[in-house]
Amino acid sequence: MMDYHTHSRFCGHAEGGLEEFVLAAIERGLDEIGFSAHLPKVVDPDPYHAMLEERLPEYVALAGRLRGEYAGRIVIRLGIEADYFPGYEDRTRKLLESQPFDYVYGALHFLGDWCFTSKAGLPRYALEDPEDVFPRYFEMLQKMISTGLFDILAHPDAIRRVDFFPESPLDGYYEKVARLLAENAMAVELNTGGIRRGLGSPYPQPPFLAACVREGVPVTLGSDAHRPEDVARDFDRAFDFLSEAGVSSLAAWEGRRMIMRPISTLRAAGRRDGEPA
Ligand SMILES: [Zn+2]
Ligand SMILES: [Zn+2]
Repeated sequence: MMDYHTHSRFCGHAEGGLEEFVLAAIERGLDEIGFSAHLPKVVDPDPYHAMLEERLPEYVALAGRLRGEYAGRIVIRLGIEADYFPGYEDRTRKLLESQPFDYVYGALHFLGDWCFTSKAGLPRYALEDPEDVFPRYFEMLQKMISTGLFDILAHPDAIRRVDFFPESPLDGYYEKVARLLAENAMAVELNTGGIRRGLGSPYPQPPFLAACVREGVPVTLGSDAHRPEDVARDFDRAFDFLSEAGVSSLAAWEGRRMIMRPISTLRAAGRRDGEPA
């Protein structure tokens, strides 16, 4: 089993060193863990949101060292979670190409100057109208996917909150996003952060996941842990959602090449020493 979405203290808002995440993953019986620190922001660098660019080589080197040290016990992948900032695609591409990432998440955390995923951004929800925000969010998602820069769409409906959801149906957007993901050979992430936030389902919620499955979009799995104890959090519930949606295998990556792993083997095997993904 694997967890592809983890943030260590390389991100200012997360806790724990990379090695603590590896140990937590081994303890939970995972056979593969991916680090997915936030890519240094290409607009308004901010060490709280993401490491500054000068620390990127340190992150890559440490992941590489741990991969060697833990070889035979767990497979370690070097990932990154990149924000999408329209107009900064070239800069983002250069950064992504500067390091040997195994996989790249594309993510939206900002709508204009609003970081809607951060604690500081929460009060703003009371001032916004979901009928206006959701269409803007989905337009941005479509732009992001169309850049072709990313392997995985992270937490696809992270804009959703318990008390913040439009009355207008979103199925048309789900269909469009799913089709674009398929066209761009991207996978979608099932992110258990939605469960942790009390939304009652992971990101994306079931109708959105169903649209992706209908379009044949591969699915991968991440906890979005920002501290070691959240590695693989709520994965049992994630598997209920996956099986409900008819997902029978999960996507993994090596050197940005996708590999499909059957869920039955993943779940039955738990950790198998030394087995490559
Ligand atoms: Zn984060
Ligand atoms: Zn994120």
